[in-house]
Amino acid sequence: MSGPRIRDSGDGRGRIVAVSFHCPGCKLNHTLYTQRTPADLPGPRWNFNGDYERPTLQPSIKATGGFPDCDPESDGWDENAICHSFVTDGRIQFLGDCTHALAGQTVDLPEMVAL
Ligand SMILES: [Zn+2]
Repeated sequence: MSGPRIRDSGDGRGRIVAVSFHCPGCKLNHTLYTQRTPADLPGPRWNFNGDYERPTLQPSIKATGGFPDCDPESDGWDENAICHSFVTDGRIQFLGDCTHALAGQTVDLPEMVAL
């Protein structure tokens, strides 16, 4: 038995517009748009397979710069940080260009902590 690894955000009318997961590399949540409103609003969108326990998100996720430094000794924002991953079947594969300690590794996505 496992809990959800995805938290969704709706538009208040029953449509999911974004999904979040906890990234064990960055130790923070990444949030991805699955659709934009209005629909022609520019910006990336990700496909979510709808499985909250074994999520797959496509395409790959690349977060760069301007997110909090993973180093617990630091309270700053690392402008050079990169987190590049594939989320497939509830696991997250970190590519080699990640700047955090899990670069090149594939690990289970952690369950989302209830708000
Ligand atoms: Zn990350």
